[in-house]
Amino acid sequence: LQTKTSSLIEQTEKYGANNYHPLPIVIAEAKGVWVKDPEGNRYMDMLSAYSAVNQGHRHPKIIQALKDQADRVTLTSRAFHNDQLGPWYEKICGLTNKEMALPMNTGAEAVETAVKAARRWAYDVKGVEENRAEIIACIGNFHGRTMTAVSLSSEEEYKRGFGPMLPGITLIPYGDLGALEKAITANTAAFLIEPIQGEAGIVIPPEGFMKAAKKLCEENNVLFIADEIQAGLARSGKMFACEWDEVEPDMYILGKALGGGVFPISCVAANKDILGVFNPGSHGSTFGGNPMACAVSLASLDVLLEEKLADRSNELGAYFKAKLQEIKNPKIKEVRGRGLFIGVELTEPARKYCEQLKEEGLLCKETHDTVIRFAPPLIISREDLDWAIERIQKILAQ
Ligand code: PLP
Repeated sequence: LQTKTSSLIEQTEKYGANNYHPLPIVIAEAKGVWVKDPEGNRYMDMLSAYSAVNQGHRHPKIIQALKDQADRVTLTSRAFHNDQLGPWYEKICGLTNKEMALPMNTGAEAVETAVKAARRWAYDVKGVEENRAEIIACIGNFHGRTMTAVSLSSEEEYKRGFGPMLPGITLIPYGDLGALEKAITANTAAFLIEPIQGEAGIVIPPEGFMKAAKKLCEENNVLFIADEIQAGLARSGKMFACEWDEVEPDMYILGKALGGGVFPISCVAANKDILGVFNPGSHGSTFGGNPMACAVSLASLDVLLEEKLADRSNELGAYFKAKLQEIKNPKIKEVRGRGLFIGVELTEPARKYCEQLKEEGLLCKETHDTVIRFAPPLIISREDLDWAIERIQKILAQ
């Protein structure tokens, strides 16, 4: 039987490059935590577009900002100033407690920006010999899909056929302080870390590691850069996941929920002694800092703050995690997470369970084969969570 859903999937598969393996559902409408397919079936979204819709789908305040800005001006390029960028700069600097920011569009571009900033800082400020700067990153990281980001990766499938990779990268096991100490040389520009590894399956660093790593970086004049693109902006139950470890990074990398799932915007934020290395001509983006993105981002940040979504994530996450931990099944290896950023690790591939949950009206996605990630919009209600728990129990308790 040909349905709207099946014909749309067929069309997508016929003409699209085959770089994704989506669940067989077409989303045609969304509001809050709920989405609908073209046939009108309702599903709860427990992925939140990889934490880009922390504020919920089509939050009215964010959509209003989008519409208002669309009626004024959408794009100026950075050849001219626009009236949204200044207010946005001030807001993001206040939120991160940094002196400067630099806006881009996607997460991977912000990672590129961080690596460029760190390298130039190494040459211009630290005094590293030209072309010798090194970046230390962590095994299991995910920083995006551009050449720099895949060069940082430890996943063979992310890199296969795309060489040569960017030189000057050293990888250490996530959370291994001794390995970090050994990896640091006189040429090390930065240590780049996700405060919680999202794509790796919601992996939390060992107690005390982040703090000790930050101290080690300070002692060696190495920048500590936190990729908070997925774990940040209230997702983990704090505004920034680094707060769990009482660490203030030298540079934040933000994206995803920075645009409320409505308009792409990403950025890096750091103090002048670091981001000051950029001068006109050294970096940029046609759409970076555009007034649509800035207006949407201002509203998206207001929603996070006004609705206290970090606290909400913390409270509801603890409740949800406890309920998940009560499920008895030998196939469940571990339930872990912070806030509404939870991974259920199974002893077998998780895809089948995600497909079964979809049949029950609950959307989630496996990551790294054996982990189911639960990351609903942070505006979710306790009643909606109870609804989800019933379905998850039914599927996982078998
Ligand atoms: N960094 C982290 C930690 C991410 O989780 C992601 C995306 O999942 C990225 C970078 C890349 O962001 P984007 O897909 O917007 O390029």
